[in-house]
Amino acid sequence: MKKWSRYSLLIESEKHSCYFLFNTISNLLWELDSESAKILMDLRDNKISCEDLDDDTKALLSENKIITDSDDTELAKLKLLKHYHRMDNSIMALTIAPTLECNLRCSYCFEQTHPNIRMSDEVEDAIVDFIKQHSSVWNLQVTWFGGEPLLYFDRIESLTKKILSIQTIKNYKAEIVTNGVGFNAEIISKLIELHIDSVFVTLDG
Ligand code: SF4
Repeated sequence: MKKWSRYSLLIESEKHSCYFLFNTISNLLWELDSESAKILMDLRDNKISCEDLDDDTKALLSENKIITDSDDTELAKLKLLKHYHRMDNSIMALTIAPTLECNLRCSYCFEQTHPNIRMSDEVEDAIVDFIKQHSSVWNLQVTWFGGEPLLYFDRIESLTKKILSIQTIKNYKAEIVTNGVGFNAEIISKLIELHIDSVFVTLDG
């Protein structure tokens, strides 16, 4: 029998006068009015059961993992998927720091003890060779990291160009973790051609 998932969170936003529903497994995020939120709160707090919901609502909640037969099964599925990807030699995921420099000086930063060095041409070529050596890999995912990677955007451009020219790579995706300070219109306009489709801005930094 379905029940509220422990991975579903219902959060009241006083600022927006609404509720948000988030599920950490499906990544679903819904904005809810107070009437819908009340029904879900009752479900979460066991004041009503899933059997009290109409079939469409039940199907929608189930599809998005808000309610589940078993949280343990959902967790086991995630673990299995993780192991499956680890054994799949067609996928490679690399985290690459074009530079260890940063334009901020956050007091808690573990990076501060690192030297302010930038990636050399030799290291760039070594990365390309490393990818080529793994000829079974056709699906490559790169996370640009730092320091602050935007401080050496030229390197991101040159290395991406070389990666895209590797014949065996059929699917290339990238993301960037940045403090966002260095963004400007020119850099933003280049993200698509560099296949950077996710940007994580570390607000604390
Ligand atoms: S923005 Fe990030 S890398 Fe830069 S100093 Fe702050 S925490 Fe460190």
